[in-house]
Amino acid sequence: MRQHRIAVIPGDGIGIEVVAAGCRVLEASAQRDGGFALDLQPFDWGSERYRRTGAFMPADGADQLRRFDAILFGAVGAPDIADHLTLWGLRLAICQPLDQYANVRPTRVLPGIRSPLGALDPGDLDWVIVRENSEGEYAGQGGRSHRGLPEEVATDVSIFTRAGVKRIMRFAFETARARPRKRLTIVTKSNAQRHGMVLWDEIAAEVARDFPDVTHDKMLVDAMTVRMVMKPQSLDTIVATNLHADILSDLAAALAGSIGIAPTANLDPERRSPSMFEPIHGSAFDITGKGIANPVGTFWSAAMMLEHIGEGAAAARLMRAVERITADAALHTPDLGGQATTDAVTAAAVAAILGDN
Ligand code: ATP
Ligand code: MG
Repeated sequence: MRQHRIAVIPGDGIGIEVVAAGCRVLEASAQRDGGFALDLQPFDWGSERYRRTGAFMPADGADQLRRFDAILFGAVGAPDIADHLTLWGLRLAICQPLDQYANVRPTRVLPGIRSPLGALDPGDLDWVIVRENSEGEYAGQGGRSHRGLPEEVATDVSIFTRAGVKRIMRFAFETARARPRKRLTIVTKSNAQRHGMVLWDEIAAEVARDFPDVTHDKMLVDAMTVRMVMKPQSLDTIVATNLHADILSDLAAALAGSIGIAPTANLDPERRSPSMFEPIHGSAFDITGKGIANPVGTFWSAAMMLEHIGEGAAAARLMRAVERITADAALHTPDLGGQATTDAVTAAAVAAILGDN
């Protein structure tokens, strides 16, 4: 029997609720499959630990994760703690040392979900956004001087390295090549950001030569927002910088119906360290404790995790369960306009997995 060790970091707020639901569907997936077992190990890292100890995770936290095959993450953040502390204290403190440089966000309109774009045919909105996840605008460089004085200055410096841009560009072309339409849109802002983004464009052109079978085009990020809304069917795989893709993928999630559905993977494509899978939404304290958080984004993320650890059949089974849930309005949580609870949705997913032939 194949064994997989999974680190489970629920985090804060609804992260705790959706990850508990995710663990139930993962256990059901292993049970139904019969070919593998999951060792799900919980970690209490998050805001509660920060209040108690001054740190979201132990100093050797990233190293503790190295012995796992994958990481399932919920959400982190609390109303009383500044967002940048949380982001740098936990998510980036994991992604950066583990060099999970490719953030992958599939977006499509699942059966039964209404897009704000109205009625769409399947395939009209079926994208994968590849986000550079290790450098760029979120490299953390810059500083502040003359705090509080009229001369105060603050800078955020974007870092683009040839090696960093090249590896994400190659990964994006490979992702596009593996999909039926073999089409990549390279997002840039090289008209205004005239150093890093010009390097980005040059490397895109270099890497494109190795992928003659992939059609590619280039879009400025501002025009890209218009195209995503007006011509969604003209897009397939999209690659963008850390900041640009962060923004575009929230837009994508909204166009696909709800932020509660969208999944993401933080990958180390070379598999030197474990990759991390999480719903894209945050800790959402406005609905925490009400039992109505939509767990579908976590289920989809868990399916991506199963795929990544080599359990493709279980991943496909879990996605069939997800599509059965979204197709049934009685299983829609309030964010989708329904009245279902996290627990009812999870029970339905478990039943669909166990009953899947
Ligand atoms: P963060 O600061 O990390 O972005 P947040 O608390 O602002 O976290 P978001 O993820 O940005 O939460 O979500 C915005 C709103 O969308 C939430 O306040 C919540 O009402 C709703 N929402 C987010 N995720 C879900 C979900 N899984 N199920 C239902 N509603 C959700
Ligand atoms: Mg938010």
